[in-house]
Amino acid sequence: MPREISIPALLLFSLSLFLLGPKTMTSQPTPTEISAKARELHFSPIVIDTHTDTTQRFIDGDFDLAPRNEKGSVDIPRMKEGGLDAIFFAVWMSSKVRGPTAVERAEKQIESVHAQVKKHSNDLVFATTADQIRAARAQNKVAILLGVEGGHMINSDLAVLRKFSTEGVRYMTLTHSGNCEWADSSTAKPIHNGLSPFGKQVIAEMNRLGMIVDVSHVSDKTFHDVLAVSKAPVFASHSNCRALCDHPRNMSDAMIRELAAKGGVIQINFHVGFLSQEFRDAERADPKINQAIALEVQKRCGNKEGCQLIEGDRITREYVEAGKLPRVEWTKIIDHIDHAVKIAGIDHVGIGSDFDGANMPFGMEDASMLPKITNALLQKGYTEGDVKKILGENTLRLMSEVEREGKQLRGEK
Ligand SMILES: [Zn+2]
Repeated sequence: MPREISIPALLLFSLSLFLLGPKTMTSQPTPTEISAKARELHFSPIVIDTHTDTTQRFIDGDFDLAPRNEKGSVDIPRMKEGGLDAIFFAVWMSSKVRGPTAVERAEKQIESVHAQVKKHSNDLVFATTADQIRAARAQNKVAILLGVEGGHMINSDLAVLRKFSTEGVRYMTLTHSGNCEWADSSTAKPIHNGLSPFGKQVIAEMNRLGMIVDVSHVSDKTFHDVLAVSKAPVFASHSNCRALCDHPRNMSDAMIRELAAKGGVIQINFHVGFLSQEFRDAERADPKINQAIALEVQKRCGNKEGCQLIEGDRITREYVEAGKLPRVEWTKIIDHIDHAVKIAGIDHVGIGSDFDGANMPFGMEDASMLPKITNALLQKGYTEGDVKKILGENTLRLMSEVEREGKQLRGEK
């Protein structure tokens, strides 16, 4: 989730398809305009999205993954239309929630994801490893994986981290928009000078458990501390290039290079505030817009977070359509992928959409639109092998390496 602005967590949430009639998208190719070659290529390799925030909608209690929903970005029909084979659902709450309450709320979200998988076992299967993702694909099911977005949810207790791992959590983003008890965030005043000594113990335990360390959201100093201590490659589950949009949440070219040198992957985020300098500048120039959106969201949703996500999106898109915020096209995603590939190399870039948790650009409102990325990369001259790596193979390779390192550290063969 991109929520790094103070006030209501909802300011930056996803813009959904429902306010966007097809007529407003005439300047962009529709899924039917995707070339036959792109379509064939997109549906042959494994496609993985390493970050979505759909979990909040399960908690609200009135959302189900099975029907094609008019709101939001992710459900079974649209995942299938988009050729999505594996998706990580984030367990998220504000970094202000602390202590046993945070652990308890994380457990509820983990349970809610397992419940959805159980309910829709014809279409979905829970997965924790690269091999299980491949097996799910062989059964024509979507693999569902779990990530915890924010180290505050372990309540400074390695036993909680181990419990999350047992329950199937495959990555942990070390911080969200605030610092946690042992690591600094990119969008808060530093208090730990990066990773605290306990934070380094957390990384060691994640390595041992074979859990991926996620450096999205963390401060530059935390990032460097992580690279220095992690025995396994790490990833940024949903981060973009600072060279194209100067936001502390994005990664500098030097950071992207260092991540890649360690075998890591940068998963490109679709949030307009991280894709577009123009959008970021406009938001910063007039903070009253975000305040007004936040007030309206509060009025419509109260404390229901799933509702907040959706309404925040709707209202933000209304502002874009009224000309109060700049319109950002989906092709910006391709610019960030292309830049990251130039810096990191083709083996170190993937996709982490932030669907259902961020403001989506025009033309990439939901998971069904993912084949456009394949089409655009082919048009740009990427080979089929390159595209396969970006869509999923790089993530599978990283997962296998993290799993292997964990086994070694646990003394297993
Ligand atoms: Zn995030």
